[in-house]
Parts: sequence; C-alpha cells; structure tokens
Amino acid sequence: MIMPNAPFEGARGYQFHEKSIFERGTPGRTGVSLPPLDVPEVDPKKHFGKLARKVAAGLPEVSEPEVTRHFVRLSQYNFSIDTQFYPLGSCTMKFNPKVNEWAARLRGFANLHPYMPESMWQGGLELMARLEDLLADIVGMDHVNLQPAAGAQGELAGLMMIRAYHQSKGRAPKKVLIPDTAHGTNPASCALNGLVAVPFPSGDDGIVDPARVAALIDDDTAAIMITNPNTIGLFERFLPTIAAMIHDKGALVYGDGANLNALMSRARPGDLGVDVMQFNLHKTFTTPHGGGGPGCGPVAFKKLLEPFQPSPTVKRNSQGDQTACYFLDYDRPQSIGRLRSFVGNFGMMVRAYAYIREMGAEGLKAATDLAVLNANYVRAAIGDDYPVAFDALCMHEVIVSDKLIQKETGIKTLDVAKRLIDFGFHPPTVYFPLVVAGAMMIEPTETESKETIDQFIAAMKQIAQEARENPDKLREAPTTTRIGRLDEARAARKPRLRWLPEPDVAAE
Ligand SMILES: *Cc1c(COP(=O)(O)O)cnc(C)c1O
Repeated sequence: MIMPNAPFEGARGYQFHEKSIFERGTPGRTGVSLPPLDVPEVDPKKHFGKLARKVAAGLPEVSEPEVTRHFVRLSQYNFSIDTQFYPLGSCTMKFNPKVNEWAARLRGFANLHPYMPESMWQGGLELMARLEDLLADIVGMDHVNLQPAAGAQGELAGLMMIRAYHQSKGRAPKKVLIPDTAHGTNPASCALNGLVAVPFPSGDDGIVDPARVAALIDDDTAAIMITNPNTIGLFERFLPTIAAMIHDKGALVYGDGANLNALMSRARPGDLGVDVMQFNLHKTFTTPHGGGGPGCGPVAFKKLLEPFQPSPTVKRNSQGDQTACYFLDYDRPQSIGRLRSFVGNFGMMVRAYAYIREMGAEGLKAATDLAVLNANYVRAAIGDDYPVAFDALCMHEVIVSDKLIQKETGIKTLDVAKRLIDFGFHPPTVYFPLVVAGAMMIEPTETESKETIDQFIAAMKQIAQEARENPDKLREAPTTTRIGRLDEARAARKPRLRWLPEPDVAAE
C-alpha cells in the first residue's frame, strides 16, 4: 500500500477527536468570576409566567481554558483556504487578503450603527457609492445595487426586476430559458419568482447554440438566464448573437456573474448584451465565505431596469450641504422593494472595496489571467487519467470525468474525492454539472502557487495509479480521518452529534 501522505506537505487528512462542549464540564464549574448579586433575586416564573424556562438551559459549565481550547480547536478543525488547497469548483475559494480584514475592522466602519443618522455615516455611504461605480465599470453596466445578501438572492432580485420591467410595459411573460450548463440556483430563482424555467440542452461543444435558442423564443419569453463562463468552464462565445435575438422579442438577458473570476478586465457582460446580472463578492472579490455565510450578491443592470432596483439606493446629493452629501433614497415607487435589512452586509462591501482598490485594473486582469492559466495547467496535466469533458481551452475551472478510470478499474469520482482528503486536499465539486457523468469540477484559482498545484496534480495521478493497482483499498478512503466513509445521506438527515467512544448505532 502506498503511504498516504508521504510526499504531500501538510497532508494529514482531517482530525476530529473531541467531545462536544455540551458534554464537557461539571455542574457549578465556571469560566468567569462574577461579583455577588447586588439586586434582589427574583423568581422568573413570577415575572415571566409561561415564558420562563421549565428546566435550566443546559449550557456547558466549563472553565476558561476549556472554553479557549474548545474554540481554538474548532478553528483548527475548520478546513479553510488559510490552511490548505481548496479547489471546489464554482465556489472560487481563493485566498482573501488580510488587508481586507484590517479595512473592515477600522473603527469608523466596524462601529457604524444602522440607526445612526445619515449625516454620521457619510464615509460608509460614500464607500458604498464608490463600490457601486467600480463594480459597474468592471462589468460594463449602468448601475449597481449592493443590497442582495448572496448570489442566489442577487438572481432573485434580477428576475424580480425583469418581471417588474415587463409589467411596466403591460406584459406578463412567464418563460425563462435556461441552458443545462447553468448553475442550479438559476431555475430555483425562477420558480421562487413565479416564473417558469424552460431548460434546454447546450450544443455539442458545451456552449449555448443560438439556433436552439431561436427555436424556443416566443411571446411568452421573459428572459434567458445564462451562466458565463458556464458550469462546464467554457466561455459562451455566442452570447452577443443570442442577446440580440432575445432583445428583438422584447425579452431580457440575465447573466449569472458568479464566475467573474474568469472575466475581470478581459470581458464585460454589459458589452456582451447582458441586461442584469449578479456579482458574488464573496467569491471573486475576496470576502471569506463558506459554512453558510455571510454573502454579498449585488445586482448590476442597464438603465432600462434602473427604476425597479431594490430600495433604498445610495444617492449623492450634489447641491446639498457638504456635511451630508450621501443619503439613502427611499422614494422609489417602481422598486421591487427591500430584500435585506438596512443596506445589506456592509462589512463585505468594505472588503470588496479594499480588494478592488488594492488590485487596480491591472491587478484584476492579472488575477483573471492566472486563474485561467492555472485551470488549463491542471487540465493539461491530469487529462491522461481524467479526460476533460469538452476538449477546449477552459476558463477559470476545468471539468474532468471518471470515465476512463471507471472503465479500467471501477473506481468512481466519489472514491477519488475521498482519497484526496487523505492527501490533505479539499475535494473538488463532484457530480456537478449534471451534464457530465462523474464530473469533477476543479477550480484552482489564481492565488495558488505552481508548487501547490503540482502537489495536487501529483495526488490526482497517484490516485489514478492506486486505482489501477489496488482499487479495493482505494474504496476505503479516507483512512487518515477518525471517521471514514459516512453514509452521507444519513449523516445529513439524522446527524449524531454526541460523542460516542464506540459507535453505538443500536442506541439511536
Ligand atoms: C455560487 C454560485 C451561485 C450562488 O451564489 P450564492 O452566493 O451561493 O447564493 C450562483 N451561480 C453561480 C454560477 C455560482 O457559482
């Protein structure tokens, strides 16, 4: 058996060996020294009636070192971009510069309170206005609204704006054309917005074929929703032609802009005919993400959609007095309304702004070029073992399949992904996009060094070799983690969160 991690730096798999904090401690133990009570003790039942707890909250009673160690260990268990290579396709897990954190923690930003009068947070409003302008410029759009709190909410906002636009013209078309290479959130956003997703297959070369779109457009078409680069990592070359056809029918083009890491300073969705799109600041513009939050998914749009954008918007009052130049405009009768409390996730806006200013146009171009180069480097290096789905230059991510290995050895994508854990790499996105059987979607990002990517390539090749030499052993991976292969469906639906030294399945 090949040593699991000999040649791979920092590769020890994941280690999880700890009771939950609720199972630690002793009644009466405490981590803080409280002064004696200097007010009369009261009976909560008397004061709060039914609202009072019947039993104690069951909080952990632990000492300060126990608490500290618990949280430090939790932070260490966390597989993150700060610890290892994280090529999770479509998620752009790139390094987030620490200077962004410095900026977000500046007291003037961090201590802002959303209920302050506008005159007291002019700097915050100005940062938002400036970020809107920078983002609009990066994608060639007329306006940006920063409110949506995630990419998917940005999609929802954009589709709501499209619907409001049609309604303002006295129309109510229902269909949204969505190619099979779109991100999974696209049809979901349609359904949430009362529109009907009309899926269709892309062409044989993996991109949308204008002829197929032409055959689908009719008077009930509200929009087309295109992810570019698409989820196969290919650039939608015919987008301008498709946009012209869509516009001819009075419909609009939604561009899923989550994958901007492949386009910045090279191509602008606005120039390609997109009318409205979302950004994923938490992907392209380096704000930490994962584990469910926070996100920031601004929408960018052309002039014709301006009246419908979420409310409020940040406005500059040019004739007003200098002390209160910026204000929030709530007077927006045609707006789709508010999507988020206050102005959205402000801290993420500070990080994105810091990143863009630090990079400059040249820096963003270099990031795009390196992201695309790195993905193509991986494509060329592992292609013999893991054939690419479409034999073309890819953008910021490469989609390969288990076709060859499975045929030769019976080893599947899931086995490869699990084995990567032993080598200390986060597995790529697997079995997505659905149009590629046994897909592995690898997005190295621009922030990884050649040495790191070479190690990943070496691991992928070694796994292919292991598959040929000892497939049964490979099916046991991961072997360096405390828990090996889980029944993943069961682990998600019936999680067992208690520490049990011996697996005690019968007791559940
Ligand atoms: C990540 C992603 C989304 C969804 O973004 P969230 O912030 O996770 O809601 C949508 N489309 C594409 C192409 C993506 O990669």
